[in-house]
Amino acid sequence: MTEKRDSKTSVLRGLMNKCPNCGEGRLLRGYLAVPAQCEVCHAPLGRYPAADGPAFFAMTIMLLLLIPLIGFTWVLFRPSPGMLLVITGVITTVLTLILLRFVKGAFIGYLWAKNEQDRGA
Ligand SMILES: [Zn+2]
Repeated sequence: MTEKRDSKTSVLRGLMNKCPNCGEGRLLRGYLAVPAQCEVCHAPLGRYPAADGPAFFAMTIMLLLLIPLIGFTWVLFRPSPGMLLVITGVITTVLTLILLRFVKGAFIGYLWAKNEQDRGA
């Protein structure tokens, strides 16, 4: 069977913390650990080290969200500058940690799809 790896499907599966190959097994164990292979289809997930890419993407997305976030917090709550710093600091940290997990999954899903396209060419 010559199943073409659809990058959109792979990224979506990664985003949902599912194996990009079968969509059944879990992609991440614990917080950010990638298993050597999928527990369902035995796809070699450990071969796709995402390195610093996901952290970079998560921080970029956060920076883009941070600007309107500060604006809304300022307009709605009129906090003191120190309070604003604390509020946005906490929200940014929590969201980045949550986001990083999704971004890492999507990133591995993308690498997974990309790998097949290279070999198929
Ligand atoms: Zn799988």
